[in-house]
Amino acid sequence: MRHIHVIGAGVVGLATALRLQQEGHKVALIDRNGPGEMASRGNAAGIAWTDVAPLASKGIWRKIPGWLLDPLGPLSVRPAYALKILPWMLRFSRASLPDKLKHSVLGKAAINKASLPAWERLWQSSGTRHHVFMKGCLEVYTEHSQIEGVRKGWQEQREHGIEVEELNGNQIRELEPDFSENVVGGALVPGWMSVDDPHALCLSLAEAFERNGGKILKSSVSHVQPQGDHIVLHLEGEEQILSDHAVIACGAWSKTLAAQLGDKVPLETERGYNTTFSEPNVALKHAVMVPGLGFAVTQLSHGLRVGGAVEFGGLEMEANWKRADAMAEKASRLLPGLNRENGIRWMGHRPSMPDTLPVIGHSKQSDRVTYAFGHGHHGLTQAAITAELVSDLICGETSKIDCTLYSAQRF
Ligand SMILES: Cc1cc2nc3c(=O)[nH]c(=O)nc-3n(C[C@H](O)[C@H](O)[C@H](O)COP(=O)(O)OP(=O)(O)OC[C@H]3O[C@@H](n4cnc5c(N)ncnc54)[C@H](O)[C@@H]3O)c2cc1C
Repeated sequence: MRHIHVIGAGVVGLATALRLQQEGHKVALIDRNGPGEMASRGNAAGIAWTDVAPLASKGIWRKIPGWLLDPLGPLSVRPAYALKILPWMLRFSRASLPDKLKHSVLGKAAINKASLPAWERLWQSSGTRHHVFMKGCLEVYTEHSQIEGVRKGWQEQREHGIEVEELNGNQIRELEPDFSENVVGGALVPGWMSVDDPHALCLSLAEAFERNGGKILKSSVSHVQPQGDHIVLHLEGEEQILSDHAVIACGAWSKTLAAQLGDKVPLETERGYNTTFSEPNVALKHAVMVPGLGFAVTQLSHGLRVGGAVEFGGLEMEANWKRADAMAEKASRLLPGLNRENGIRWMGHRPSMPDTLPVIGHSKQSDRVTYAFGHGHHGLTQAAITAELVSDLICGETSKIDCTLYSAQRF
């Protein structure tokens, strides 16, 4: 039995702490906020294991110029951040070259395919399966030309064994009668799952962890320092903790700690916005993606959540709430009955790597520090499988997936 500290109690840290605890280790979580308070709090609730295409792809470069023309569109760069994001963008562009893209597709398909069975194991073992809310996702489009552009991607998903059924506008309205005639077609992906509320899921995972004897400390870790057979964790207020092993699961804030351990990871944040309407006046039976407009609409237990998009603006800049309002406005065109009163707006920081693959692996300086961050748009989806991979690495077990794909030293 080892004494392990997991830094960061987002969905990735929580899943990892639970898994390590189940493996018989003495585990503590450290977070400067409460469990699931940051990116894991307000996301779109999708266990999106059916997605196999990385964000960096050939097709995306045709769309980016148009998106950038609209400051409230699916992608924007805050002017004061334009120079800072340039090196990440260059890496993102390199990741869309054929040989690199092949690597990303392999890595993303492998982790996403394994993610649902891993969640099933974690939901069962932690008593949290009641959060699984509904099955199936509708991808909808407002222009026929957009559908022609995505058929190849659907075919790619089918080649990975994922069921994708193309539907016309009327077939979509049969499934979801609240949609207007603006929806001209799309596809049903029946395997997709949604949870009732991502924050509630995090709180239930935290409860299960504490019920089993786990401790959650509220503090900020400023330094992670390997020292002989131990790791010294420096906390705020000059407190120090001696541990056998540390896991860094600090989401978009992981870069500084990784740099202290000799790993210069190109981690950036893709900021996303949404609004949750508690009395939306429309009810959806499927998760809905609107890729052409860059947002999703998700039915939750406590309302309808509309949002998504990507904004590059780093970790410190204030939110631009016009982005959340613009997506809600666009959603109204597809769902004319949507009541947009009393919406609660939210902004979250996706922890994003330029090749769309997370960082899961030991640090360069010490095998006693393991990384679990950089899951971008799929942190909820990939949390439980990440937890299993981290546990395998720490226990020296052979992993289900080749973890070199996710190594921090791949750059
Ligand atoms: C709009 C939007 C929609 C999304 N939709 C989906 C979706 O449908 N499906 C999906 O799979 N993913 C989705 N995502 C992505 C997902 O939310 C993230 O990938 C995921 O939440 C990342 O989890 P995490 O635990 O790595 O990070 P976080 O949840 O951000 O947790 C990191 C934690 O580390 C703590 N921390 C940081 N630094 C320190 C430190 N030095 N000391 C102590 N604590 C520290 C923070 O307080 C935080 O609690 C979405 C994201 C956004 C923004």
